Amino acid sequence: MNASDAPLVVTCVGTGDAFHSGGRLHSCYHLMSADRQFLLDCGGSSTAGFARCGVDPEQIDALIVSHLHGDHFGGIPYLLLAGKYLHRRTRPLLCIGPDGLQRRVEQAFTALYPGVLEEGLGFEVTYRVLNPAAVLDVLGARIRCVPVVHGGGAPALGIRVEMAGRIVSYSGDTEWTEQLPILAKGSDLFICECFNYDQAAPGHLDYLTLMHEKERFDTRRLVLTHPGPQLLGRAGALELELLHDGARLRL
Ligand SMILES: [Zn+2]
Repeated sequence: MNASDAPLVVTCVGTGDAFHSGGRLHSCYHLMSADRQFLLDCGGSSTAGFARCGVDPEQIDALIVSHLHGDHFGGIPYLLLAGKYLHRRTRPLLCIGPDGLQRRVEQAFTALYPGVLEEGLGFEVTYRVLNPAAVLDVLGARIRCVPVVHGGGAPALGIRVEMAGRIVSYSGDTEWTEQLPILAKGSDLFICECFNYDQAAPGHLDYLTLMHEKERFDTRRLVLTHPGPQLLGRAGALELELLHDGARLRL
């Protein structure tokens, strides 16, 4: 990846829904400062996205997971697998997310590649629990979260990362909640999910709701992600910016 004079570069590795609608990859955003590389979510197809976007997974210091659906965390076993066999990774990896992340990652890894975890990966993987009552200061970044309204069998979180003097807020998946303006407040970038155009879907947002509420988001740049088929059918006529896989945002 090329160096940039921007303090923080956000690469949209995957901006799709669970169904790969429009051929988009599962949720994954790569945050790169001068000295650290983080992921926001690591959906099941993220490994393909790393190759397409020129992201070197070996250089990732930490990943932060919004909720425990496969299109948001299902790529972690493959990241760990490649670290062991392909990259012979030595760099420690920090995994941050809702309570239950470690158990779900290890269950998924064991179901997909039995016995590999028991052999050892050859690099250190540490898990930290993120919850709305806590602020995590790790690797030069400050990470907070808010509760959002979605499934996953564990708390679903909206995430806020302060890094390199910039603030990135990310809704994860959620239907409308009054937590969203709080999450977005003062951010340089607010990545907000938007699944449908005008139909309310449980656990998800729609475009007309966001158009109605957008003035409440105190952010420098609001961008939409996670579009389903209905929203993609209107993608050419949207007033709000819709991300696409491979987009690179310099903050
Ligand atoms: Zn989800």
